[in-house]
Order: sequence, then C-alpha cells, then structure tokens
Amino acid sequence: MAKIITIANQKGGVAKTTTARHLAYFLDQFGCKTLCIDNDHQANLTLYFGLDPIQCEQERGSMYGVITGSLSLADIIIPISEHLSVVPSALSLAEAGARLVQETDVNGVLRERLRPIQDDYDIILIDSGPNLERLLINALVASRFVLVPTKTDSLSISGIPALLGTIQKVRASLNPGLHLLGVLPTIYHSGRLADEKAIGQLREQAPQAGVRIFDPIPAATNYDKAADLQQSVFESFPETPGRLEYETLANYIVEA
Ligand code: ADP
Ligand code: MG
Repeated sequence: MAKIITIANQKGGVAKTTTARHLAYFLDQFGCKTLCIDNDHQANLTLYFGLDPIQCEQERGSMYGVITGSLSLADIIIPISEHLSVVPSALSLAEAGARLVQETDVNGVLRERLRPIQDDYDIILIDSGPNLERLLINALVASRFVLVPTKTDSLSISGIPALLGTIQKVRASLNPGLHLLGVLPTIYHSGRLADEKAIGQLREQAPQAGVRIFDPIPAATNYDKAADLQQSVFESFPETPGRLEYETLANYIVEA
C-alpha cells in the first residue's frame, strides 16, 4: 500500500509545489512508483509537469471530477516517466469544496477515491493550496504523513502553529494514523539576518514540540526559471543548490 504524503502550508509561495515537483523527481530516479496529485485549483503542479490544465480538463477531466464523483482517479492519471504519474488539477477544483458538503463523509472523500489505486504505487504525494479548507482536510484524512515547507522569514514561521493545530485536530478526530514528517525550510538565504533568525527560532522550538526540521533548501533563482520551462530544476540546471537536500529528504521519505 502506498505511503501517502500531503505537502501542506496555508501560506502561499512557501515552495509546496516546488517541493512536490523535486521530491517526485528523485523518487522517480530511485525507481519508486510515484503518483503526484495536484489538489490545488491553481494547478501549478500540473503546469510544472509540462501539462496544460485546460487541455487536461477537456480531454479526460481533472481533480474536480474525482472529488465530485463523476470520475475515478484511474480515469485521469497521466504517465510522465517510467515511475512517475500525475493527477492534474484545473481551476474548476475551486468549486469542489462547496460540492463536498453534500457528501455524508465530507472529510473522507479523497481517502475513498484513493482506495482503488493505492496498491499501485509506492508513494503518493498530494500538493495542496494555500488554505486550511475542506480539500486540505480531505488530503490530511487520506494521508499517513504531512510535510510542511516554510519560507525562512518571521511571517511565514508565525503561521506554523495554526497549521500544526489543524494537523493535531485531524489526528484527534479524523485520522489517528497521521504523522507530521517534519518542517522543511525553503528559499533560505544563508547568512541573511532574517533567515538566520527564523531558522534559529524553528530549531529552538522544534525539540519541545517534537518536530523534525529538515536541512533548508537554499534560495536560487533557477527554481523560477525551471518552473517557467515546466521542468525540474535539476534537469534544466543540474548544479542548482538544493539537490542534496531534496535528494536526502526523498530518501528519508522512502525509509519513513
Ligand atoms: P507554493 O506552492 O507554496 O505556493 P511554489 O512552489 O509555487 O510555492 O513556490 C513559490 C515561488 O518560489 C515560485 O516562484 C518558485 O519558483 C519559487 N521557489 C521555490 N523554491 C525556491 C528556492 N529554493 N529558491 C528560490 N525560489 C524558489
Ligand atoms: Mg503551490
């Protein structure tokens, strides 16, 4: 049965999608059968894999159809490479949360949709949008692990307790099997005062909260360029900093 991991932070621009893309890159390299699910209506992960969300939606459908019950996940899985496949999203997913309210198990819909395919993969990564709403709760209910990327600035760090609170509530009432994999500092400017302060704060609070802090992903403009090219940064610019950190994290996920 696949290890299901949600990548979550209610703040936008903290590298959730970038992290999903590059963990997938290494998991594919390791030969792990990996499925990436784009659970954000912004469809950035879909784009990052070189797919056009509008075209995906028109041809076979997207996450909206899965969540609202007209499609199964298997109907819309798109193979990207030998070991890697993607479930695309599109703008329509923004309407799915409201439709979920009609379901009896309003938080367990994604878990149900995953059941028929979860034996086909080693790892399923779920990218999420910048909110703490129904689709995120559904992803957390379906997952064994949650990974929290954060930018290394004080405003980003200040949002983490609310997210940990949500994770705790989901664990207590909906999914006791959910574990916090850890916090991944991203877009880290080594030597810059604000970043050092934020990292220091994270590392100081982590032990008492029992939270693992992964090695930070350095900031590099190549990540923006790679997103533009709809390729992983390590394909377009192999020397980009962050390779070792993402590869180590991918390994950790395989072992977890
Ligand atoms: P989220 O999914 O949390 O909204 P993204 O993954 O879309 O965040 O990243 C936000 C922006 O930051 C994007 O423009 C992305 O290219 C950029 N980015 C991601 N990681 C890095 C990094 N290590 N260094 C510099 N920019 C980065
Ligand atoms: Mg994103």
